[in-house]
Amino acid sequence: MNHDVVVVGAGIVGLTCAARLQEAGARVAVVTADEPARTVSRIAAAVWYPTHTVGDPRVLDWARRTFDELAAQAVHGVSGVVMRPTRMLLRAPSARPPWWAAAVRDFRVVRPADVPAPFAGEWRFTVPTMEMGPYLDWLVQRVTGGGGVLLRRRIDRLTDVADLAPVVVNAAGLGAGGLADDAGVHPVRGQVVLVSNPGLRTSVRDEDNPAGATYVHPRSRDVVLGGTFEPGVSDVAPSAATGQAILARCIALVPELAGARVLEQAVGLRPARHGGARVAVDAAGLHGGIRLIHVYGHGGAGVTLGWGCADEVVSLARGPSSSRTGAAATWGSSAAPGRAR
Ligand SMILES: Cc1cc2nc3c(=O)[nH]c(=O)nc-3n(C[C@H](O)[C@H](O)[C@H](O)COP(=O)(O)OP(=O)(O)OC[C@H]3O[C@@H](n4cnc5c(N)ncnc54)[C@H](O)[C@@H]3O)c2cc1C
Repeated sequence: MNHDVVVVGAGIVGLTCAARLQEAGARVAVVTADEPARTVSRIAAAVWYPTHTVGDPRVLDWARRTFDELAAQAVHGVSGVVMRPTRMLLRAPSARPPWWAAAVRDFRVVRPADVPAPFAGEWRFTVPTMEMGPYLDWLVQRVTGGGGVLLRRRIDRLTDVADLAPVVVNAAGLGAGGLADDAGVHPVRGQVVLVSNPGLRTSVRDEDNPAGATYVHPRSRDVVLGGTFEPGVSDVAPSAATGQAILARCIALVPELAGARVLEQAVGLRPARHGGARVAVDAAGLHGGIRLIHVYGHGGAGVTLGWGCADEVVSLARGPSSSRTGAAATWGSSAAPGRAR
């Protein structure tokens, strides 16, 4: 065993775990069936926003840690990360801010007199956004530059990598369900349309649009228009009719988009899980005292929760173990995970 930890999965969740584990002193191998550029993570919009995620104190902590890490990365000029002002238009008046507002630094409710028709309310806030192509490249370079290895290999069972390291992290997204025998893991199809950017700088969301959730996320060269959220649907072929409907809704929301050139239609399957993301030591472990940690099921919020979950994975990987199997890790010396920059 030349590694302390093997991470299965090279999407946003696996790569952030690998980066954090490395900062904590672990020698890390990442095993992935797909190149990072061909993962679901590559298709993400990718905006800090906990889509369809139930907020409890643990999830809020993951969200807040991720927000803070990405905000710091934006300040340090990490590839593809910027802070983006956002307008969230509401179809029904909201008496109180959403649970996730506690993680956002400048959340504010717009005065009713300033809310545009036909909306009943508006929230404004600034959140980190990433361009996932350059960002995943940056993460890979960070991991390999720090001595980690990336191995292209599709595994059938988690025991297939048990010879690589005494700790196995299952961050295989949609594939994690089969590897962990977890029937709660399921796809949530999402289609987006990428168009040329006519000069937009602000994200606009109309999540409760009765015709379908609608969002406009500008990036440096294009704009991501969305979207769909289709639980249980695993067809990855873009639908022309759905693309047209997304385009029409987004132009109605942001008229400057009329005339923007369509560059691409993309579909991804969000790796969701009934009951929310699983971030835990597997009490059964793997044979031979291998410690097994699961980190999957982030659905529409892997980008939003990734760094916070990675912090927890470092703690779980290091032990002391509350499970029946797996010795406490001996690598690393600091008690708290560092910052990945
Ligand atoms: C259209 C769309 C828009 C989105 N927008 C946002 C957004 O704005 N904000 C946000 O927070 N989230 C967003 N998401 C959700 C986000 O993309 C996911 O939550 C996130 O990508 C999940 O990351 P992951 O690393 O768990 O999975 P993935 O990116 O799917 O990576 C899984 C990894 O596991 C590997 N793997 C799987 N099975 C095996 C196996 N058997 N053997 C070896 N390796 C295996 C794969 O090869 C891959 O490397 C969006 C998703 C979509 C589809």
